[in-house]
Amino acid sequence: MSVNEFSLSTGRQGLYDITHDVEGAVKNSGVKDGIAIVYCPHTTAAVTINENADPDVKRDLVVGLDAAFPNLPAFRHREGNSAGHLMSSCVGVSLTVIVHEGKLLLGTWQGIYFCEFDGPRDRRFYVKVM
Ligand code: ZN
Repeated sequence: MSVNEFSLSTGRQGLYDITHDVEGAVKNSGVKDGIAIVYCPHTTAAVTINENADPDVKRDLVVGLDAAFPNLPAFRHREGNSAGHLMSSCVGVSLTVIVHEGKLLLGTWQGIYFCEFDGPRDRRFYVKVM
């Protein structure tokens, strides 16, 4: 079984709904009961599951993460994006979603998001279904 690779171009910060991409990978895999792993291979980006109904939730997550992880003067990393590195580690770069009867077992209000914390950049993520 192969790995599915997806790419996206991001803005400075934000959440991007990738649920449809992951659903497509599950459908193409033919797996009926198993798991889907969603993996982000970046150090200032992440993947998460959160509400897919009110778009203000995506915005508020970014606002809240900015407040929780300010760019501190004490940071030494010369690229100047240590806050983005912190967000990546705390939100996480990997998700496991149950595949049941050929579909992602997500809650009614859940979507899968790629999170950009230091864009704009060209990003990738991987989906492995087994
Ligand atoms: Zn950096």
